[in-house]
Amino acid sequence: TVTVCRSLCNISKGLGEFLEVKLTLDELNLSNQQLTKIMEKMIKEMVKGLGKDTNEDATVKMIPSYVKSLPDGTERGQFLALDLGGTNFRVLLVKIKEADEINGQPKIEMDSQIYRMPENVITGKGDELFDHIALCMADFLKKLDLLDHKLPVGFTFSFPCKQDGLDHATLITWTKGFSASNVVGKDIVKMLKTAIDKRGDLDVDIIAVVNDTVGTMTSCAFDDQECMIGLIVGTGSNACYMEKMSNIERLDSNKGGMCINMEWGAFGDDGALSDYRNEYDVHVDENSLNSGKQLYEKMISGMYMGEIVRLVLVKLTEDGLLFGGETSEALKTPGTFQTSYVSQIESAIPSGMTAVQNILANLGIGAMRADCEVVIQVCKAVSRRAAHLCAAGIAAVARKIKANHPDRETLRMTVGVDGTVYKKHPTFSQMMSEKVDELCAGAGVDVHFALSYDGSGKGAALITAVAQRKIGSDE
Ligand code: BGC
Ligand code: MG
Repeated sequence: TVTVCRSLCNISKGLGEFLEVKLTLDELNLSNQQLTKIMEKMIKEMVKGLGKDTNEDATVKMIPSYVKSLPDGTERGQFLALDLGGTNFRVLLVKIKEADEINGQPKIEMDSQIYRMPENVITGKGDELFDHIALCMADFLKKLDLLDHKLPVGFTFSFPCKQDGLDHATLITWTKGFSASNVVGKDIVKMLKTAIDKRGDLDVDIIAVVNDTVGTMTSCAFDDQECMIGLIVGTGSNACYMEKMSNIERLDSNKGGMCINMEWGAFGDDGALSDYRNEYDVHVDENSLNSGKQLYEKMISGMYMGEIVRLVLVKLTEDGLLFGGETSEALKTPGTFQTSYVSQIESAIPSGMTAVQNILANLGIGAMRADCEVVIQVCKAVSRRAAHLCAAGIAAVARKIKANHPDRETLRMTVGVDGTVYKKHPTFSQMMSEKVDELCAGAGVDVHFALSYDGSGKGAALITAVAQRKIGSDE
């Protein structure tokens, strides 16, 4: 076959190039057999993370969130929610009002503002990061004329934190683009309170700190009883789910359940993914702010997806397989190929090449039709791998939950999802959901996905409301 292939290649240079491109794209393909392996490793790691004596060595930290009961629809009131950790910082006012007469559901009204987080704030001094957050809160409340109202606050803080209660959270490590100094190891609630007290113009009560996955699951559960998993595929990636207390060895109680923030982004940090990572993954990791950490996240989430595509394009160009062998300064510069381009390029497929050519032109590249086709294939391969890896994780969670319900023949479960990649990419959600079905075949689970609009902020407000009701009723 080698000789046949060679002579074929000689006949057609085009075909030879096609085969070489295909070899590169194959590096980004994971078979069902490989994905099943990854799923099984994830389940093992989850069990390790839950275990009292094994947690310390586990990469997937399985952090108890102290969110035990989900909203039951009787929550009322006015709450302030903060959402930090993705592309933007948001401040939200959430009002939960009397039930709608028509559908019996309480009405939730929200107002919010997005505040840009300057680079020098997220990578500067920790104190100043929290001063900035307090400044945004004050600006928001002033605009709504609520400065002198004492508002309960729910803080969605989307980084790995150790919690020993709903209103304490110690930062374990920064992820994504954050690196502010002197915050790791500190209680972020204390830091925010200090910043607020320093100002003297805010009167708020921080009731709950929640991860964005937990907020997203909670707000989805408000409408859907079967929602027991939360997923984020945005700048970063992570999942949470409802676990039986008796399986959470680190906590003494055996009653009921609790939401576990998995922090699955760190899966693979012990080498568990080394068989599946390729040269592009290694490059992305080595040039990141947190080299050696969050290896699973780096293969999935929006902070890295565009960069993986860029690296593949550079490689193909240098091998003479793309753009006539000519790269551009922009294409050679890290970070220039934004993840939003991946979504735009894949969305452009039916309508022709112009959109793709425009994006490449912005990167200083004049692309021919054949080039655009290769670029589309590269984007597809990278996003498909991300969706499939995510599916392996969700399949692991679904099987883990099913094990808690041996009596049920089929367990239906909803995954509440948020994040820019999930929302903006044209086929990510479908690719993920189809792969979950394949990986869960015969497992007795029926997994659905539901997009959660504004989930993390709304969820933080709902969790705050539930917590306040508990405080009120001394339950
Ligand atoms: C963080 C998680 C977060 C996820 C999605 C990860 O980098 O470690 O806490 O849930 O990003 O925002
Ligand atoms: Mg977010």
